[in-house]
Amino acid sequence: MVDYAIEIEGLQKTYAAAGGGAPKHALKGVDLQIPAGSIFGLLGPNGAGKSTMINILAGLVNKTSGKVKIRGWDQDVNPRQSRAAIGVMPQELNLDPFFTPFEALEVQAGLYAVPKQERRSMEILDMVGLADKANAYARSLSGGMRRRLLLAKALVHNPQVLVLDEPTAGVDIELRQMLWTNVRRLNEETGLTVILTTHYLEEAQEMCDEIAIINHGEVVIRDSTNALLNRLDGKTLVIYPHGDAPATLPLPEGVTMERRPNDALAFTYNRSQIGTGALMEELRAHGLHIRDVATEEPDLEDVFLDLTKSRD
Ligand code: ADP
Ligand code: MG
Repeated sequence: MVDYAIEIEGLQKTYAAAGGGAPKHALKGVDLQIPAGSIFGLLGPNGAGKSTMINILAGLVNKTSGKVKIRGWDQDVNPRQSRAAIGVMPQELNLDPFFTPFEALEVQAGLYAVPKQERRSMEILDMVGLADKANAYARSLSGGMRRRLLLAKALVHNPQVLVLDEPTAGVDIELRQMLWTNVRRLNEETGLTVILTTHYLEEAQEMCDEIAIINHGEVVIRDSTNALLNRLDGKTLVIYPHGDAPATLPLPEGVTMERRPNDALAFTYNRSQIGTGALMEELRAHGLHIRDVATEEPDLEDVFLDLTKSRD
């Protein structure tokens, strides 16, 4: 039996209309299960519903309908336990400018009723590289430092699930590396489940075991990162025939053909299965005269765009 960190069933969120506009269906019945101990990526374009989903998990936004369980605790039945099981680093930099980082962590610990002797504020500040800023005013912190502080705040109550909402949007490479090193270490050493949203595909590729892509409030696909990357193995060879193409063209296994405008033929195949040269040889052997060729290699961005536009 799989041990789930998060179980979401039929989750819907409709935001009331602002200023006479139409209500916004931000989540349209999402089902999603996230195994405990994994690093899970939630990908999607702006406005897809990622933050809405995460804020519902965190108890910051009320769902319209559906079921949410965190570490087995149903949000509606055991709200306190389900909230205690999750820590969220929000997308917005919402820090109180009057607290020092140390104070901010202590206040947060108080909100989660962490007993004094169990608090680890300095240890956490040290981990995110803010130990020397423990007593500085939040308003004197750089943007990168504020993000680190938000991460620290999310960890104060020792949650089993850590959610990072666009943690690296607009941060420099050094901070990004620091963040990922820390997050990986926490995941490996403590079995912390990590859920991150991002619209940087290479980040998801590097960090995540599994990925769900969400668009217009729906999960479009959910798969292991490797399986998603295997899709990227696909390549398209576009051939402009000289004269008429043969009426029937036997294709090697795993190759599919599609007719394009201007008599072009597009062959799609996996690079790991057949090379471009070998494919062209076979097509020639079957009587296809080649006037011109072009190749199209999708990158992650293409696959992402393809998946996110497919249900528009
Ligand atoms: P993402 O994080 O993927 O960019 P969001 O969850 O922030 O997406 O937003 C999903 C949709 O819900 C968007 O169309 C957004 O404009 C809308 N939305 C988000 N928050 C609110 C709100 N508080 N009131 C009304 N609409 C909202
Ligand atoms: Mg967002």
